[in-house]
Amino acid sequence: MGIFINACTKHPDTGNSFIMKKTIKSTVDSLTIKYGTTFQARIEKGVTQVAKIWTKEDGTVADFEKVCMENYIGNDSSRFEAFEHLSNYLEAISGNFNEMVLGLKKVVDQDMGPILPIDQMMASYDPKSHLMDDLYTNKTAFFTILNFPFYSLQEKNELGANWSRKEWAFARLGDIFNSRVPAQYQQNINKALVDAEMYISEYNIYVNRLISNDGKPLFDKKLKLLSHWGLRDEIKANYGKDNGLEKQKLIYEAMKHIIFQDIPEEVINNDKYFWNPYSNKIIGNGKEISAKPEPNMRYQKIIDNFQTEKAIDVFNPDLNTFIKRKFEGEMEISQEDVEKLFIDFISSAEVKKVAELIKKRLGRDLQPFDIWYDGFKARSSIKNEELDATTKLKYPTAEAFKKDLVNILLKLSFTREKAGFIASKVDVDAARGSGHAWGAVMHSQNSHLRTRVTSEGMNYKGYNIAIHEFGHNVEQTFSLQNIDYYTLAGVPNTAFTEALAFVFQNRDLEILGKTDSNPEKYQLDALDIFWSLYECMGVSLLDMDVWKWLYNNPNATSVELKEAVLVISKTIWNKYYAEIFGIKDQVILAIYSHMIENPLYLSAYPIGYLIEFQIEQDLKGRNFGKEIERIFSNGRLTPKEWMKKAVGEEISIKPMLKAVDEALVQLVKK
Ligand SMILES: [Zn+2]
Repeated sequence: MGIFINACTKHPDTGNSFIMKKTIKSTVDSLTIKYGTTFQARIEKGVTQVAKIWTKEDGTVADFEKVCMENYIGNDSSRFEAFEHLSNYLEAISGNFNEMVLGLKKVVDQDMGPILPIDQMMASYDPKSHLMDDLYTNKTAFFTILNFPFYSLQEKNELGANWSRKEWAFARLGDIFNSRVPAQYQQNINKALVDAEMYISEYNIYVNRLISNDGKPLFDKKLKLLSHWGLRDEIKANYGKDNGLEKQKLIYEAMKHIIFQDIPEEVINNDKYFWNPYSNKIIGNGKEISAKPEPNMRYQKIIDNFQTEKAIDVFNPDLNTFIKRKFEGEMEISQEDVEKLFIDFISSAEVKKVAELIKKRLGRDLQPFDIWYDGFKARSSIKNEELDATTKLKYPTAEAFKKDLVNILLKLSFTREKAGFIASKVDVDAARGSGHAWGAVMHSQNSHLRTRVTSEGMNYKGYNIAIHEFGHNVEQTFSLQNIDYYTLAGVPNTAFTEALAFVFQNRDLEILGKTDSNPEKYQLDALDIFWSLYECMGVSLLDMDVWKWLYNNPNATSVELKEAVLVISKTIWNKYYAEIFGIKDQVILAIYSHMIENPLYLSAYPIGYLIEFQIEQDLKGRNFGKEIERIFSNGRLTPKEWMKKAVGEEISIKPMLKAVDEALVQLVKK
């Protein structure tokens, strides 16, 4: 699904419909008289929702009444018949658009020799960009809303527990037309996002030009690092290294200036000068030179995102803030629920215990940047060269991997029949980039597994990614082919397909027939994920609080936003980190680049890991193949309903905390 997300309409700047309440009432009354009171609630919902998105360009008030009167279906069997036909049309449209886009991007996505200018041109062409427009013009949108109205997340969660599969399928149809954003507004959003992405993609710091108070650089080799990922990874890489702590501290000081925006503009993406982040002075030709601080660009980019998103609130009758669109709309978990889950996790007793263990392993007190502590990575007992040799020999080409799909599934305990079926629905291509899985959107289509295959065959990294992607393909196959109603195809959100991809990836060595003899691997992995989520959830809370603040202060300047971000990040730090780290008022959570270029996206990571742990726990002692098929044949319910059916409880932090408790017992003993 997801093919209908690109809204594109031509109507002018009127978010509010001109259909008056009295027209809605008289239309509802006429329809109720015609079809009886049994349908009254549905009639009211449908007519009201059509009125909300009806514009002058769609017709007069009389046209509105006519569309409602002529298109409402007042008997259940005809309504179901219409549903089935509409589902088939949607499948034909979405499936064929999918085929087109797949074809248009083929040369760019697959390892097929040089990319010509015409390939780039066609790869960026979006054939479905006018689809939504067309479906409003020919009134399909109004027909759909009228007969299959939209249900809010709260309604889905409350009513959905007692809905039949058919009722769920009807409700999913109602999701397709619940907003109507004019093309120009969508373009403004995209432009602000692309600008922010550009800003971040050119935000490099040359750490070899960083100097300490003694005036000497600590990094000898030229090292250009992207903020914040590159800088963070360099901090991670310096655990246990000579001079490592000094280097980590130096990078941390530099990060703070990025957050405070008093970083000299002269050192951003520029290696002309030496920069001492402790004194914030820059040196050129042996002399101190006057520096200009960056003019709060970082915060201006957030404001630009906010303003363009806020401008479409009015075109979304139900999800009328960006916060609601991201959480209730995209993720289908309310922001309040996500916040509660994260707060429970980061204030759990386990945090303190894991922190104690880290202190012990480091032999020193914690520093704020130890939120990126990297010492729980399990060293494999099998050498990489050995793995490379095995996978290259086994998979010299993409075809060889395709031929082995059945075997891989048999090793994971799928039946021969199931394995054969899944393998027949997956094509394997050599990827140009690192790899991805491209799902099918109609029953007759195959999904695509893409991974790197070098001229010497698939190395271990390529294989490891291929197994991850294969997890996605298995999800994509079950959640389309096993689903009773087309509108229910898929999973609740991307975190769910990622969870299965990781479940597969965890078993990559087992599938190769190799056993890792590192006895602590499982425990270390649990602690590693736990600690990274402790950090990631804090950043997510900051991201959410910043957007709440923006909605309360819609005319804020970049300076005001900066001050607010500093206050909010310190508040979160003081609540959930200060005691653990023994230091107050740190702003480190505000360094993430996601906040600038992909707002409110970060929360999806932790949710994915929590789900993965719940699925792993459910799989214990059960037949893997059967259980995976059962779980991923639920279709696109809400996360809450899906999880109840899949593992018997809602998204929960308990399985991960349990794994951490067990790991602590094992590791602290030593
Ligand atoms: Zn993935």
